[in-house]
Amino acid sequence: MNITVVGTGYVGLVMGACIAEMGNVVFCVDMDSRKIETLKQGILPIHEPGLENIVTENHACARLHFTTSLAEAMADSAVIFIAVGTPPGEDGSADLGHVLEVARQIGSLMDRPTMVVNKSTVPVGSADRVRAVIEQQLQQRAVDVEFDVVSNPEFLKEGAAVNDFMQPDRVIVGTDSEHVRQLMTELYAPFMRNHPRILFMGVRDAEMTKYAANAMLATKISFMNEIASLCERLEVDVENVRLGIGSDQRIGYHFIYAGCGYGGSCFPKDVKALIRIAQQSEFEPRLLQAVDARNELQKQSLFEKLVARFGSDLSDCTFAVWGLAFKPGTDDMREAPSVALINSLVGAGARVRAFDPVAGQAARREFPERWFAEERLAIVEGQYEATIDADALVLVTEWKPFRHPDFKALKRLLRNPLILDGRNQYDPAQVSREGFEYCGIGRRAIR
Ligand code: NAD
Repeated sequence: MNITVVGTGYVGLVMGACIAEMGNVVFCVDMDSRKIETLKQGILPIHEPGLENIVTENHACARLHFTTSLAEAMADSAVIFIAVGTPPGEDGSADLGHVLEVARQIGSLMDRPTMVVNKSTVPVGSADRVRAVIEQQLQQRAVDVEFDVVSNPEFLKEGAAVNDFMQPDRVIVGTDSEHVRQLMTELYAPFMRNHPRILFMGVRDAEMTKYAANAMLATKISFMNEIASLCERLEVDVENVRLGIGSDQRIGYHFIYAGCGYGGSCFPKDVKALIRIAQQSEFEPRLLQAVDARNELQKQSLFEKLVARFGSDLSDCTFAVWGLAFKPGTDDMREAPSVALINSLVGAGARVRAFDPVAGQAARREFPERWFAEERLAIVEGQYEATIDADALVLVTEWKPFRHPDFKALKRLLRNPLILDGRNQYDPAQVSREGFEYCGIGRRAIR
């Protein structure tokens, strides 16, 4: 098949590369000409394990093309995936501006039967809006061609995106067309050879499924963070509670880790968007509101622990921060808990020295340039370099090299032997034996 993917971000680039890898010819379109130019040179705009190889190999053998021209891409393909961003609007609702703009462009170019597939996360009813925009363009041009609008939300996880796309838990397709079912079955067959996992449903059902999935995952995290906050007050270790409840098969171990809050480009925005969807339907989604509110509080939890320990004026303090990306395996800084923490620390007068294995460059763009010039914030090249003369080490993102650090070296480098473990990575007893004060999330503090 010849396929166009509009939007060459985390979703579009991974999808484009993976379907090219299966033998399709793919045109990746993006309005960001710098991104397209660097991709043509084999330079990836994002960090995603395993992606670089399949992008460069498929580009070299002319199965994967990069262009800013939708017209060029559509000249050769009648299947178009929309994978552009749907950022939060001011009131938290999903901003469909990019999706509808792509729909307008598609309508202004379409001259033969086409399948338009929405991969972006969009509110229920968006497929109808995409259809209306395309129809309007076709009418203006007095062109009469048939087209389908399909919902095919994406469930990949950043940091494991290639693997997730290559071996999806399931593929959701919202359509009522038999012809679309056949085409999508054919397209996804190479990704599910041993047992088909493609679920067909109505377009609106598919749109809702994506929000429900992310809201459920966010709920699990916020639930566990709420339990953790209670554990702290009751002198209970949430890690024991986690193991205890996870062993119940109805609960399971996935996604019940207490921590310093969820971030990323999906959970925060999708929970907020679902709240707005509910409110627009005159329904107050109390549980979702609480999930969101708990997470906002949780992102401040490490800062509050530092204030409780050092006081509200932190101008004499320097803190080492390990991990900036919103989670390990990615350079994505969108809504990362590290940003909330560093903003609060610098706001309270502290100096921060931070390290992340891949997100350092992306992180620089999140903070005012003057903070670097005034040496209030430094993003350094090594994990131990960050800890020199710091009053505490604060672990924010659980990258693997942070899991088993050289405690002896840390003891030498830190001015004050205190570890704040925002992801409950360490055994408090071991850290204490190494001579540190320890403070996790939902655990007894050890002095
Ligand atoms: P992204 O911001 O990384 O990439 C979006 C790309 O679309 C950008 O490169 C941008 O330049 C391009 N774009 C915007 N408007 C365009 C236009 N008119 N023409 C051409 N290109 C245009 O976004 P992302 O993280 O890949 O997310 C895309 C969608 O997928 C969102 O709706 C998101 O919620 C959803 N999603 C994301 C993930 C994830 O982990 N990132 C997972 C599942 C679903």
